[in-house]
Amino acid sequence: MITIEERFCELHPRSMAFYERSQHSFPSGITHDVRLLRPSPIYVERASGSRKWDVDGNEIVDYVMGHGALLLGHSHPSLIEAVTEQVDKGTHYGANHELELSWSRAVGDLMPSAEAVCFTSSGTEATQMAIRLARAYTGRDKIIKFDHHFHGWTDCLVGRRAQGSAMPRAPGVPQGTLINTISVHQSDLDTVRKWLMAREIAAVILEPTGASWGTWPLDSSLLAELRTITKQIGTLLIFDEVVTGFRVSSGGAQQQYNVMPDLTTLAKILAGGLPGGAVVGSSDFLSMIEFREDAEWNSHRRVAHPGTYNANPLSAAAGIAMLSQLGNGQLHLRADGHNRRLVMEMNAILARHGVAGCVYGLASYFHILLGKDCPRPIDGVEWPIQKIALRNYPTMEGTLALSFRQAMLNHNVDLMGQASAGVAGGFVSAVHTDDDIDRTLVAFEASLKEMATEKVLV
Ligand code: PLP
Repeated sequence: MITIEERFCELHPRSMAFYERSQHSFPSGITHDVRLLRPSPIYVERASGSRKWDVDGNEIVDYVMGHGALLLGHSHPSLIEAVTEQVDKGTHYGANHELELSWSRAVGDLMPSAEAVCFTSSGTEATQMAIRLARAYTGRDKIIKFDHHFHGWTDCLVGRRAQGSAMPRAPGVPQGTLINTISVHQSDLDTVRKWLMAREIAAVILEPTGASWGTWPLDSSLLAELRTITKQIGTLLIFDEVVTGFRVSSGGAQQQYNVMPDLTTLAKILAGGLPGGAVVGSSDFLSMIEFREDAEWNSHRRVAHPGTYNANPLSAAAGIAMLSQLGNGQLHLRADGHNRRLVMEMNAILARHGVAGCVYGLASYFHILLGKDCPRPIDGVEWPIQKIALRNYPTMEGTLALSFRQAMLNHNVDLMGQASAGVAGGFVSAVHTDDDIDRTLVAFEASLKEMATEKVLV
């Protein structure tokens, strides 16, 4: 009988040939860590709506959705129109333009704490700028982040800490940089409090729904507590809403949980799937980048804000077209509704087959855990964090995650997440349909059966 991996090779010969060539061009043959897949990643030729087509002609229901950037699916007509119109008018003026004003107004209308806006080119640049603003404003060097919370590849925000150490380590980042980063377990408010009391902390930064877009869900009551204690100490609270912004609600996690951070980082949906990022927040903090009639300020105290592609007209056009459709809540209703159905019915399938594992999520994202060490299927969409605390960052066993990812692709469903890291999940867009969800559930059930036959899943 043919194995899942053999079937994968049968279905993806051209992708495998491209991957062979890629090995000569890129380290590990890939251009982003999460795109790694054995024996080969898929190579995509075109995409539309909720689907994408790979070079082997497979039509795939897509839950990667541009790494979470595409709330309106691929090539939405409204975004095509906005970008096409703008291409004709110019792609880079090297000057101010009206679209950047409309874009920042759209952000301000949706994101409750966005009094002022500073555009960047990516989420990584946004987190880097947010930390720099906080350090410059407070005059303090140290920052607190939480274990496994992802903030892009900004030097001071990467790495893992060894057991018993507060400081993360990351190859290529000097110890002298990371010595100012304190990484804390995401439920350990006591340790956060202890560090804050020393009044040396410039900022606390976190993903407000938990590490890696809620893979490790966070008790939302912690947000209000963090808000209170950081305010008392004069430490800035930064929500990294690169994923949750405009997704968890039109005003992000801050609106959903009614907790206002000092600074928020945004990207992905912000620019409608084109490159773009932003730091938003109170003008008090963002005024650190303003020029003043004061030479000493401008030369020595002001935070610089360069960036060739800041507020790029194409990204602005796409961003405005995207954000202007969020006001009436219809897009979220659709995306969240389909996500709810996906999560509930996947859990029902797990229960029906007695497979250990669970599926959970929030708004329009979901995470899947499989394997004997996983908790039983949950009742509802959100992780029942009040009842079951997840002490550690939850992952699947690597071979199981790989087999699952291959099996789902064999059934034409692409999930988000690096199999070698033992995670799988996805983003549901506002253009996914009942038919997409039906196909995904059939693929899920078939994949579980095949994995059981191969004894990958017991
Ligand atoms: N912050 C979070 C929460 C993210 O998920 C990401 C990327 O996925 C980033 C920051 C970095 O954004 P970018 O990839 O645009 O640099």
